[in-house]
Order: sequence, then C-alpha cells, then structure tokens
Amino acid sequence: MKLKEVTEGKVRIFVPDPKEYMIEGKFDPSWAPVFYNPKMTFNRDLSVIVVSLLKPKIILDALSATGIRGIRYYVESWKSEQLILNDKNSTATSLIQINVKNNGIENAKIYNKDANVLLYEIKSEYIDIDPFGSPVPFILSSINATIRNGIVAFTATDLSPLEGSSRTSCRRKYDAINYKLSSSKELGLRILIGKIIREAAMLEKTVYPLFSFYADYYYRLFVRVESGARKADENINKNLKYFGECPRCGFQTFVDENCKIKCPICGENFIIIGPLYIGPLHNMEFLKRMIDIYNNFNYLSSFNRIQKLLNVIEKEAKYKSVFYNISKLASKLKVSAIPPIDSILECLGDASKSHFAPTGIRTDKGYEEIIRCVKNL
Ligand code: SAM
Repeated sequence: MKLKEVTEGKVRIFVPDPKEYMIEGKFDPSWAPVFYNPKMTFNRDLSVIVVSLLKPKIILDALSATGIRGIRYYVESWKSEQLILNDKNSTATSLIQINVKNNGIENAKIYNKDANVLLYEIKSEYIDIDPFGSPVPFILSSINATIRNGIVAFTATDLSPLEGSSRTSCRRKYDAINYKLSSSKELGLRILIGKIIREAAMLEKTVYPLFSFYADYYYRLFVRVESGARKADENINKNLKYFGECPRCGFQTFVDENCKIKCPICGENFIIIGPLYIGPLHNMEFLKRMIDIYNNFNYLSSFNRIQKLLNVIEKEAKYKSVFYNISKLASKLKVSAIPPIDSILECLGDASKSHFAPTGIRTDKGYEEIIRCVKNL
C-alpha cells in the first residue's frame, strides 16, 4: 500500500495515498484499504475539544481505521493512562502501529478484533463508535463496556433512515415509525437517542446527551451512561414520546401515544413518528464549559466553523421545542415570499436560529405567534 503523510490538528498520520485509489478522477475513501476521510476533520476537531474536558483515564477508539481519532485525543486532548485502538481490518491495525510510533506514543494498546468482541472483553471510561453508516450494531456492547459513568461517542452517517427517507430501514434498525417531516434533521437525532435509551435500559442503564450536533451528512452524539433500573425507567417515562406534524397547517408537537390524533389547529390527522427522545440535546453545563475553552483550540483548521456552530447551539439549546422549518411552513401556508429569518426572530422576540437548517427557527412561543410573524412580515 502506497502511503501519504497528512497533518490533521497536531498530528501527522500516514494514510493510503488517495492518488492510488482514484476511479474516473474521483477519490472515495471507502475504496482505499484503510479508511481516512478528510471531510470528517470537523467531527474529529470537535471531539478533541470534548475529550479535553472529559479527561478519561481510559480511551477506547473501537473502530480506529488509521488510528487518527484516538491518536489525536492522546496528543491534543489529554494524555490518558490507557489508549486503546482497535480495528477488525488487519491492514488498518498495521498502519495504526506505524501512526502511533510516528506520533511518539509508547503505551497504546492495539487490537485487531471485531469491536463487539473487544467490547465484551474490556471496559473503558470513554468509547468512540465511529462506524460506516449506522452505530446500531455497537450500541449495546459499548454501553455495556463503560465504567464510572463513562461516555460513549457515536457517529451516525445513515441519515436516510433516521430522517425518514428510508422508512422501512428506520423501522428495522431503530424500531421507530418515521416519515420525512419538516424538521426531520433534528428528529433523526432524537430517534437515534431514543434507540440508545431503549438499548441501555435492557442493561438497567440509561444515557443522557452531553453534546450533540448535525453536520454535513452525519450526526455526532456524546452520551453519559448511568446505571440503575429506576433511572432507566424514569428516563423512558419522561423522555421517550412521539412527535406529530400536521400535514395541512404545519403545527408540530410531542405526543404521548402512537395513535391517531387530530391537529388542534385545523382538525387534520397528524403524521406521527417515534418513539423518540424529547429531552435536551446537550448538558447545558458541559456546553458552557466547551464554549469557555474552545479558544484554546484556535490552531484547528475548522476553528471558525466550530465557533459558529457552538454560538448557534448555545442560543438554541435553551428552547425545549423542536425547530420550525420556516420555508416548509410557509409553503404549507401558501405564503409565497418567505420573510428573512432575522425578521422573524425579531418579530418573535424570544427565538433563535437552529444549526439543523438555515431556514430553521427555535422558540418556545406558540404556533399562532410563529404564523403571525411568518404571515404579517
Ligand atoms: N474512526 C475513523 C476515523 O475517524 O478516521 C474512521 C473509522 S471507519 C468509518 C470505520 C472502521 O471500522 C473501518 O476501518 C472498518 O475496518 C472498521 N470496522 C467495521 N466493522 C468493524 C467491526 N465490527 N469491528 C471492528 N472494526 C470494524
């Protein structure tokens, strides 16, 4: 395999030379013998900031590929007592050996196992699950492998089931009814969290989101795992519900049951999806700590983008409701000229933009007030 050295953050990593894996002038990282996707730098950059606050004694990067993620945590976030890197592809683990050495890391443990085997053999305080597509096959094993109220970080790139485009796949993988709705970008993340809560409950554990976001073509989610059947029950009873959108007038609400409910505004039958998680998408205290320290990471190539994302998330996190997609709402209401988002925010007074969609607004004000601002501007 011909290698190329690349710099990401503060590390230098050997990756398969993209020139060797071009087909018709195009490079797709999944064609290379070991996976490295420069488009995921933003995901890794933000994760470096999260891990620098968590300072876990043990870090397990369960699907490592080149090892870049775990190596960056060790070099840029925090020198953990143990760094464990794993991949079931033996070409990947040979490359991890080289990359670990190249970055002066002496004490990393490298495994060449199926992640689901390894996760039932060892325990860790921080576990990274960054798979191809859905993280579902690794939810139970990773939650089971955490110790001391540990953290699991999940990447999900299978947006098509989560956002309701592939409904049967969502039913199969996430055991949730789904439809493509106006705010599916956020609802997909909530379906993923709902699934993780149900899986954790089987182990008499539960999870609470620490920080989460949508970017490009994936969700990234950090959850804290806590033990106890009662906590698991409480989280399910309080935070697992369904979501309804009225196909006629666009009214949105969380609902208790997956049954036919009529829209209180216009009487049309709701489209109901779920079960999904209805609680906060971030731990506010942790978010505040991220905002306090992200300036220490101004060397990151995606620093400006991180700054923008954290600023929007900080504002939107205070609202409990799902965001309203103004362009979809305006089209349902047959409002041809969509008012500028800033004017709608000003009209509502207490509202923010949403990182989930450029035409998204988040507010806890009622539907009627939103409509008034969309129609009268
Ligand atoms: N985390 C890496 C990064 O940030 O660059 C990318 C990981 S890549 C998306 C997924 C990796 O998981 C691949 O290297 C693949 O070989 C590995 N993999 C897939 N299924 C696995 C399994 N069941 N156990 C262990 N490794 C697996």
